[in-house]
Amino acid sequence: MCRAPDPAAYRPLGSPPPETKRCTRCQEEKPIAEFTYPSGTRSRCKACLNEIGKEKRNLDLDGARAADRARRASNPDGIRASRRKHYHANKAYYAAKSTAWVKDNPEANRARRARYRARKLTAPGGGVSLAEWITLRDSYGCCVSCLRTDGPLEPDHVLPLALGGRDHIDNIQPLCRSCNASKKDRHIDYRVGHTSWLLREPAFTTI
Ligand SMILES: [Zn+2]
Ligand SMILES: [Zn+2]
Repeated sequence: MCRAPDPAAYRPLGSPPPETKRCTRCQEEKPIAEFTYPSGTRSRCKACLNEIGKEKRNLDLDGARAADRARRASNPDGIRASRRKHYHANKAYYAAKSTAWVKDNPEANRARRARYRARKLTAPGGGVSLAEWITLRDSYGCCVSCLRTDGPLEPDHVLPLALGGRDHIDNIQPLCRSCNASKKDRHIDYRVGHTSWLLREPAFTTI
């Protein structure tokens, strides 16, 4: 049977779209943005859809966690890139978090620094002199990761001392503070990606 549309159920042609909408699940009247996704407007609000998603996840939490792990393992570079993007977009937040951690964990921070000093003392390579570092830093003239030229550059061990890296100038790359902080204890050689015009001949000699 064909039903004639009820004109009262439609908003008149040319009238502005409604600013609010009633969620069919929680029955709350909410701003239209709470229903809008790139794919279109939903009948249930975002809070409700999130809840439904969580309930579904909780039905098989172990399976969902295993799937998360598999997804992370299958695309480590993508994960790293997106975390990096998030870090750079929220630098102030992470800086505050790090400062707060140092403040709240003075003992742990002291221990962390002591571990670093001990590694530096026992690491092979013989150390890096200030002159070697300055020569290297100025021969690149930028952070080799994000290529920024403003702000201070820090010497970073390409292969971290904790992973058996040498404390030698051939294992050092200049990084800005935030790139150095987000690299952490990982083996990433940003010098490899440098094109020849950026990689000026370093003036130091490696012994
Ligand atoms: Zn709702
Ligand atoms: Zn950088």
